[in-house]
Amino acid sequence: MLRFKNLGSGSTGNATVVEAQCGIQTNRILIDCGLGLRELERRLIQAELALNDLDALYITHEHADHVGHAKRVAGSLGIPVWMSQGTWLASNGLDWGLNDSQINIARDTEVIGFGALQITPFTVPHDAREPLQVKLSDGAVSMGILTDLGHVSAHVVSQLKGCNALLMETNHDTQMLRKSGYPQFLKDRISGPLGHLSNDSACELAQILNHPRLGQVVAAHLSEKNNSPEIVLDCLSRALGRTRDEVWVAAPDTGSSWINVN
Ligand SMILES: [Zn+2]
Ligand SMILES: [Zn+2]
Repeated sequence: MLRFKNLGSGSTGNATVVEAQCGIQTNRILIDCGLGLRELERRLIQAELALNDLDALYITHEHADHVGHAKRVAGSLGIPVWMSQGTWLASNGLDWGLNDSQINIARDTEVIGFGALQITPFTVPHDAREPLQVKLSDGAVSMGILTDLGHVSAHVVSQLKGCNALLMETNHDTQMLRKSGYPQFLKDRISGPLGHLSNDSACELAQILNHPRLGQVVAAHLSEKNNSPEIVLDCLSRALGRTRDEVWVAAPDTGSSWINVN
C-alpha cells in the first residue's frame, strides 16, 4: 500500500510525507523539509503522525523552501538523509554535524531501496546545483513528485510515465506573471528554462502522463501572487478530461489530504 500527504507547498516551504506498507513493515519518508521543526510536528499531528514516525528524509535541491530546516530535523531525529552530491555541497552538508551513516548520496535513476519503499531520483531542469525530483513505489503502484522545474524534459516524461498519482508543480499563470510588479530579472528567472513550470506547461505534461490508471493528480508549488487555485483547477481538469472535483491543489499552509495510490 502506498499513500502520501503534502504538508505544505509553495515558496514558504515544501514537505510531503510518503508512506509504504508491506505486511507488517511500514516506512515513511519526508520529501523536502522547508517547514521548521515545530511547524512540521504540528502538521504531522494533523496527519495523525508524530515526528518519530518519519524514518528518512529526501531533499530534492538546496533552495530554502526545500532544504531550509533539514539540518535541524535530520539532527534531532537521527534519521538517514538522501540528496544529490550537488545538493549536499550547495547546502554546506559538512556543517550539518550528521553521522557518516546518516548521509546518503542520491544519483539520477539509481533506485534507492528503503524498506517497503523504492525511491527513484531523476534529474530535472532547475536553477539549482544538482536537483533530483523523485518517483516512489511500493513495488505495485507508483507516484511522482515534481515540484521545481523550468521546462518539461524528455527525461522527466520517461521517469514519470505510468505513475498512478502525481504531485506536480503548476507555478504560475503566464499572463499574471507578465503583468505582475515583479522586476524583469525575476520574471525572466521564473519563466525561463531553469525556473518554474507554468500552468500551460504543467497541463501539457499532465496530458502526456495521463493514462487509464492515473489516479489522483495534485497541483503544487503555486505562486501566491501569479496564480490562483481556481485557474489551476480549470486548466488541469480540462487537460485530464476530468471534472474540477477530480483534481486537487496543495495549499501553502495545509497541503493536501492523505491520498491513497492505487
Ligand atoms: Zn527551487
Ligand atoms: Zn521550490
